Amino acid sequence: MSITEDPDAGMTTLSEINVKHNPDSHGPEWRDEDVRGFGMAVGGRASVCRPTTVEQVADVFAAARRESTPIALRGAGCSYGDASTAVGGRVLDLTAMNRILAFDPQTGVAVCEPGVTVRDLWRKSIGYAFWPKVVSGTMAVSMGGAAAMNIHGKNNYALGSFGECVRAFDLLTPKGELVHVTRESDPELFHAAISGFGMLGCFTKLEIQTKRVHSGRLRVWGLVARDLDHNFEMIEELRGQADYLVSWLDLHGKGKGLGRGLLHRADQMQPGEDPEGVRYLDPLLQDVPTKLFGVVPKGWLWPGMWGAVQTRQVWLVNWLKFKAGYREERGSPYLQSHGAFHFLLDYVPNWHWMTKPGGLIQFQPFVPVAEAPRVMRRIIERCQEVGYVPYLGVLKRHRPDPFLMTHAVDGYSLAMDFAVSRSKSKRDALWRLCQELAELVLEAGGRFYYAKDAVLLGSSFARVHGEEAVRQFRELKQNWDPDHLMQTDLSRRMGV
Ligand SMILES: Cc1cc2nc3c(=O)[nH]c(=O)nc-3n(C[C@H](O)[C@H](O)[C@H](O)COP(=O)(O)OP(=O)(O)OC[C@H]3O[C@@H](n4cnc5c(N)ncnc54)[C@H](O)[C@@H]3O)c2cc1C
Repeated sequence: MSITEDPDAGMTTLSEINVKHNPDSHGPEWRDEDVRGFGMAVGGRASVCRPTTVEQVADVFAAARRESTPIALRGAGCSYGDASTAVGGRVLDLTAMNRILAFDPQTGVAVCEPGVTVRDLWRKSIGYAFWPKVVSGTMAVSMGGAAAMNIHGKNNYALGSFGECVRAFDLLTPKGELVHVTRESDPELFHAAISGFGMLGCFTKLEIQTKRVHSGRLRVWGLVARDLDHNFEMIEELRGQADYLVSWLDLHGKGKGLGRGLLHRADQMQPGEDPEGVRYLDPLLQDVPTKLFGVVPKGWLWPGMWGAVQTRQVWLVNWLKFKAGYREERGSPYLQSHGAFHFLLDYVPNWHWMTKPGGLIQFQPFVPVAEAPRVMRRIIERCQEVGYVPYLGVLKRHRPDPFLMTHAVDGYSLAMDFAVSRSKSKRDALWRLCQELAELVLEAGGRFYYAKDAVLLGSSFARVHGEEAVRQFRELKQNWDPDHLMQTDLSRRMGV
């Protein structure tokens, strides 16, 4: 492979790569590990291997072909459910392939190995006044995982999905071919591998466009939403102007307060608008603080939140947060670093441990705009009726994208985090509730996002994507992975 290793030397051209698997190589070790989704509620023991080179991935695929053993690809393991787990099987963890191979300071294009994280990317780009176009709520996500799931950010309605900033990728197919793919060279494979949840092969390199920023800070407003309709009204009104919009919902709010919350709007600075903010292009000033008031390690906060979950006091925490929203609104707008605005969840390391021992699942339906107010209201009411109220709700605006297995709609998503009980009957009841809610969504022409799913039934697969998209995807799978070597717990659950 010929590629310049010095990122500051400017952009390199990708040359054709000839990957040969080495029959004598012992390759990286396989270890027995506990491999779970981020929510910890699904997953289990699996044999894990962490390659460091494309050749090692090719070796693993060659062995899988010889032995007819399925392989599950895994990035940083940030999918909440079973998208990158394989209980009792083999998992190829790509996190050790984590070099940024090139970064062009003129254009903001980065060439990354698949294990490069969003954190690695922005730390590289911010000093050159570039920021990733699409980032998730945590910076731990890998480029391979982001492309495979076609992740979205708080600007999905404006800039689209992660796949829309991918210019090219190298895909090692389970047959052992390494293909360099662009939108133009193979539009079908380009639009199916991105969004294809690791079913068509392994991304071994991705070329990603970042965007120019003129300050290390954003101008942020906190806006109190009295109820669900107020949320929708404000988002529809602002989406033509705002760069980012995301609404936190207090899902314990009832009656007139149902769907109340706090909408955050953030806008990028125009050239010259924030001269002081240029200083914040220093990665050290972007990083999310790890200590509260500079003293208490934020990692110590989750036990307190654990107490709220266990004692069913989450409603109180949410109520206090909602009330605090009025103060934030009065103090708006204010300036915040990109890192602090985007990666709120990273403020509290290991926050998800507050749901131990049962863990959590996230359920994120996507509903077309005309149906969203009715369906989302019903979903919240139903959760309250059965007493299984999500401790966190996040409302976002989306737009469709051109990827085959897309989860996006011209509409809204509501991400809901449910703590999972250790009791089997309660856990089963939660799964049944989510499946009931999924029916409402599918009947309304909605979709689901596999990065956030643990409960959908296989019978929903064609209903989520449409018969034609599923037929095309299965045809591509047959073509690029005829032995069905790429499998995960998710793909088996959905009957891919
Ligand atoms: C706190 C938190 C906040 C989040 N916020 C958002 C958000 O705002 N928006 C959003 O869209 N998502 C969000 N997510 C979900 C996350 O962005 C996705 O689950 C993403 O896919 C995780 O990437 P990963 O590297 O952890 O991949 P994994 O979860 O390990 O894998 C995801 C999928 O990618 C496949 N895969 C991994 N590497 C490769 C590769 N090299 N080649 C081919 N396939 C591969 C896997 O097989 C799997 O199907 C959030 C997750 C967390 C934990």
